[in-house]
Amino acid sequence: ATPAALMVGMGRGAQLGVLVKSAASLEGASRIDTVVLDKTGTLTQGRPAVVRVLTASGMTEEEVLTLAAAAESASEHPLARAVVSEASNRGLKVGTPESFTATPGHGVEAEVGGRKVLVGSRRMLDGRGVSGSEDAERVLTTDGQTPVLIAVDGRWVGAIGIADPEREEAATVVQSLRSMGLHVVMLTGDHEGPAARVARALGIDRVFAGVLPSGKAHVVRTLQAEGRRVAMVGDGINDAPALAEADLGVAMGTGTDVARDAAGVALLRSDLRGLPAALGLARTTMRVIR
Ligand code: ADP
Ligand code: MG
Repeated sequence: ATPAALMVGMGRGAQLGVLVKSAASLEGASRIDTVVLDKTGTLTQGRPAVVRVLTASGMTEEEVLTLAAAAESASEHPLARAVVSEASNRGLKVGTPESFTATPGHGVEAEVGGRKVLVGSRRMLDGRGVSGSEDAERVLTTDGQTPVLIAVDGRWVGAIGIADPEREEAATVVQSLRSMGLHVVMLTGDHEGPAARVARALGIDRVFAGVLPSGKAHVVRTLQAEGRRVAMVGDGINDAPALAEADLGVAMGTGTDVARDAAGVALLRSDLRGLPAALGLARTTMRVIR
């Protein structure tokens, strides 16, 4: 039987906007000493916006955006939504792709009006043998923007610079976690440049950038091998393996279903303050029981 104090703790969590799935999750949460936070959609608003469009191969900004938006129209990724909104803000007529495949942590591949369109990271383009985007990529990352690269029929045609502001409460939450004696780490599939910018702004000193979805779970295991008890906080499909691997998985309320299913705790509001609240609650509850 579940001790009454645990039931009370779980109920109290619900009042704080924190769904604790089981008594075991609450107990796990009380033992955490390290918190690993995903960047995009977790520490940042996940409502990124296009700030710059660079073009190549004689294409215009509008042509690049139209093709990229068509390819991204079926993707749930926050970067995809930024590209689609920008196209719509500019009044561009975006078609529906004939076919579409998303690769988490890389990007999307689609057929648009008979043309093969790739949209995503350099890993994505490298994997398909498309080169030439390196300089544009450097220009954008140096500026702290996330580059989204576009290729059409095997040729690089442009790069879209995207900026995603930190969540308003993120710096305070990192501060609270640290004052609880927790080691705070950032983990992201994004580039070093944008990752370092966000880490600096939030006071996070340990960063793993450029990590693929499968690699995220590996980072969690590496930290566990250091003897740490790890909570992983994330929002995306790409975070699910790491959420499952961690001693405690915490899903953002605004995250994907896949992330929520893999987690032991879900933040019901789109507010990171639920995180220190939940960890504090778990500690208090277990102190009562032990
Ligand atoms: P994070 O770990 O910060 O949540 P992701 O793992 O979701 O970031 O994405 C890592 C990188 O993969 C992105 O910075 C981007 O370069 C690329 N990417 C993934 N999905 C897409 C997409 N739909 N459109 C464009 N780029 C994408
Ligand atoms: Mg994310």
